[in-house]
Amino acid sequence: MLISLLFAPLSAKAYLDNAATTFCDEQVLWFMNQIYRRKLGNPHSGHEKGREALLEITKAAEILKACVKGQHVIWTSGATEANNIALLCSADEGKTITCVTEHESVLAPIRHLRNIVFIAVDHCGKIDMTTLKQYVNKGARIVSVMLVNNETGVIQPIAQIGALCRQHGVLFHVDAVAAFGKMDIDMEKLGIDMLTISGHKIYGPQGIGALILSQNGFDALTNPILFGGFFQDRIRPGTLPTVLCAGLGKAAELVCQRREVDFKAARAHKEKFWKEFKGRFPKAIEIGNKDWPYILNVRVPKEGKINLPLVLSKEFVFSAGSACSTGKPSHVLTEMGIDLKNNHIFRFCFGH
Ligand code: PMP
Repeated sequence: MLISLLFAPLSAKAYLDNAATTFCDEQVLWFMNQIYRRKLGNPHSGHEKGREALLEITKAAEILKACVKGQHVIWTSGATEANNIALLCSADEGKTITCVTEHESVLAPIRHLRNIVFIAVDHCGKIDMTTLKQYVNKGARIVSVMLVNNETGVIQPIAQIGALCRQHGVLFHVDAVAAFGKMDIDMEKLGIDMLTISGHKIYGPQGIGALILSQNGFDALTNPILFGGFFQDRIRPGTLPTVLCAGLGKAAELVCQRREVDFKAARAHKEKFWKEFKGRFPKAIEIGNKDWPYILNVRVPKEGKINLPLVLSKEFVFSAGSACSTGKPSHVLTEMGIDLKNNHIFRFCFGH
């Protein structure tokens, strides 16, 4: 009885937190299961079972490279590690420039460096390009700006920043966790040297991510932060998880294939949801990029005694912002000048 009471409401709710994590795709699960069942060896072993495992990882890396026109793949435990490697392994004395609305996994490692600049955003969440240009013109080592913001869906002018970095010989790192598989990304055209992705945001497994690199990006990773083996060109040692790498490859292949269909479906879901939400809560206002179909970030003025988060949580699974900053006021919305004290914030994220 108790068990059915606990589980009934949960299963009836719509899951609208796909920016926090997506459920693993059935095809990905099936594919990973097949690989597990083949009982492959350690991908770094020289015998045939090792070589078979390595082949699966190589195939997955080829898929990732093809999706974004990258040259190299460094497998990591997720996007947090990929961001840390991009920023810390390429470290030297030069300036590191980023944007105030980046994910914590970019901001936190940068705070460990010395020569750092945080560029502000306007009230729409767009980076201040004039200030960014001034700093890049004065000389920098690396610029790190995310493509699509995971809380607001705001898209930064990546092509413009990439061109600027190229012109000045500055490395360009992009956290593409919220964008990969949802929009066309061409690292060559966009001038991106390092691109971060995460498995569990694209219907792949948790615990795997990648830093996809241009040749320039790869050459820049000269200061490892982990030691203990020759794997992955000593940049990130440790036995590679064959099944997880293969799962990320399969997930990437599927999201890249279905990109346009998924985009249209997400747009239809968001439009329908927003219309109904606005009907129920007329004072609700959308924050961020209205054209990004995967995220609906809204603020609703706090009024009366009604506990709106509680009411909504009975119907939907959602959050107020990034899962990595749960419990803290959103730095992204604060930087955009949103009044967090007098508003409820809800982030609904659409997916399969
Ligand atoms: N960057 C962004 C934009 C994210 O949304 C997240 C996950 N919240 C991360 C990095 C960290 O991803 P992971 O969980 O794979 O470490």
